[in-house]
Amino acid sequence: MEDCIFCKIIKREIPSDIVYEDDEIIAFKDIHPAAPIHILVIPKKHIPSLVELEKEDEALIGKIYTVINKIAEAQGVKEKGYRVIVNCGRDGGQEVGHLHFHLLAGTKLGEKIV
Ligand code: 5GP
Ligand code: ZN
Repeated sequence: MEDCIFCKIIKREIPSDIVYEDDEIIAFKDIHPAAPIHILVIPKKHIPSLVELEKEDEALIGKIYTVINKIAEAQGVKEKGYRVIVNCGRDGGQEVGHLHFHLLAGTKLGEKIV
């Protein structure tokens, strides 16, 4: 099966502005930023969505949050704060079928839904 768009980014088959990478996780700037800082943090493992998480992924998901915090610090927004969003499934508004965490920051973010 053909790789998804984010797997292609991981393989450098599609260019992106990468801000962090290690053996399990990569982070790059969203192509349509919804805030001054809008970074997508993703596992390199192709997990289609939060609903497809497996027990063996638990440590990886924990690590993603530690990486998000590191990126926030590197971007200079750790003190002011940030928002993390994961859209899941059709009702959640997920458009790309590779689990990704939106890191939004750099301004007072808009209306909260929850
Ligand atoms: P979703 O709606 O699935 O939660 O978020 C998908 C995000 O991926 C969107 O914010 C969209 O702008 C971003 N995106 C889609 N295609 C690309 C791409 O080719 N490169 C980058 N950097 N971001 C993308
Ligand atoms: Zn993928």
